[in-house]
Amino acid sequence: MRQVPARRFKLKKPKAVDPLTGLPIQSVFKEELMRALVKAEQNQELVAIMILDINRFKRINDTMGPDMGDRLMVKIVERMGTCLPSFTLLARFNGDEFTILVKEITKEIQAVEIGEKLIQCFNHPFLLGNQEVYISSSLGISFYPSDGENYELLLQKASIALHWAKRDRDHYKLYEEEMIHELPSNMNLESELRRALDRDEFALFYQPLVDAHTGQLVALEALIRWQHPKKGLLLPASFIPVAEELGLIIPITEWVIQQACTQNRKWLDEGCTIVPISVNLSASHFHHTGLVEYINKVLQQTRLPSEYLELEITESISMNNSDFIFYTLHQLDSQGIKIAIDDFGMGYSSLRYLKHYPINSLKIDRSFIKDIANGDGTLANTVISLAHQFNLKVTAEGVENGEQLEYLKQQKCDRMQGFFFGKPEPPQTISEKFL
Ligand code: C2E
Ligand code: MG
Ligand code: MG
Repeated sequence: MRQVPARRFKLKKPKAVDPLTGLPIQSVFKEELMRALVKAEQNQELVAIMILDINRFKRINDTMGPDMGDRLMVKIVERMGTCLPSFTLLARFNGDEFTILVKEITKEIQAVEIGEKLIQCFNHPFLLGNQEVYISSSLGISFYPSDGENYELLLQKASIALHWAKRDRDHYKLYEEEMIHELPSNMNLESELRRALDRDEFALFYQPLVDAHTGQLVALEALIRWQHPKKGLLLPASFIPVAEELGLIIPITEWVIQQACTQNRKWLDEGCTIVPISVNLSASHFHHTGLVEYINKVLQQTRLPSEYLELEITESISMNNSDFIFYTLHQLDSQGIKIAIDDFGMGYSSLRYLKHYPINSLKIDRSFIKDIANGDGTLANTVISLAHQFNLKVTAEGVENGEQLEYLKQQKCDRMQGFFFGKPEPPQTISEKFL
């Protein structure tokens, strides 16, 4: 495994702030809200919570690149800070969503005025280099005590109000009881996703990764499926992006980690020759401080040696060059958990992180492997030689035929995955065929 010389990097324990914006993270917001609720009850006051969403921020990120997206996010936070009075608390919720706590008020209108000011602070464009960027925001507001008496309820109601604000293209909405009866369509998906977790409707399929030269099984990738009671078996593309948007990806990924480790332990106990299982992590998971602790807890509970769990992260996470990600990856690496960069080549490439982060392998994006079948292996070759220059292993994804296999073998690709070797299948089939 590649080691980063310890002298060059100091591992600092991250504080309870969002590393990019310096804003408090949600656990801090929650504690502060709980304190405010106790005080409001004693003093017969109101508390408002707001969720603010930057409209179409993802598009900006996708078109201008994550670095510009980060710079814009910092500017947005600076500007919001200047609009908010001192008795409020602004915190990062997830991605492009923020929560605002307004305490010590006696009338709803006081919070509404603050909300209007926040919306107005987006009226002027943001300057990035010499480019003017126009953005807008949407806001959902809920109140203690009328809409709920705890963090979860108030957040849920503010989030419903936000969905309505977006649907009606209003700048903001206050939560009203009627809203819950006619939820916008992805709110239905939200409650279905929550129910899916409770009712165990998710399943993991596993797809083999083989050694390019010996053809031997070297790892299994865990790929989530949703056994929907009405719609049947759903692929991740139809619900993972929504789960990410709704902040549900964290409990879902925790379920995946738990399930994958439990399954591998089961195979080990049954006397199978096991291989590492790799789990896909979403970018938002890296803003969540409990990731390393959670993984450790599951490894201990299942008594699975850490070398039998691997993680796949997308290029956009690794690009987001922060001390926090650096620290998290090093903690995982020091425990022997290998990290692969998934869909490599599809992001915005600053290659610096390949040198500094403890990464073990790159997975060549499927589209580059498809090009081989059309007689164009340039991108695949480039990724292979790049990976080898950095002493990384390289996996080709989406290998569907012998022609691609032979080509990639010649190019010294290390590992392969694709329908040619096996499709993602339930654990029973995997153990019958491969273990
Ligand atoms: P990925 O991590 O790049 O996973 C590989 C995807 O390529 C899988 O799609 C797999 O079925 C498909 N695939 C593999 N070999 C071939 C092939 O030869 N031909 C073709 N046409 N496709 C192939 P799947 O299972 O639909 O997953 C799609 C994506 O959803 C994954 O891409 C991953 O980004 C995401 N995903 C899956 N499970 C999870 C999860 O548990 N958590 C998170 N956060 N994301 C997940
Ligand atoms: Mg993957
Ligand atoms: Mg991939």
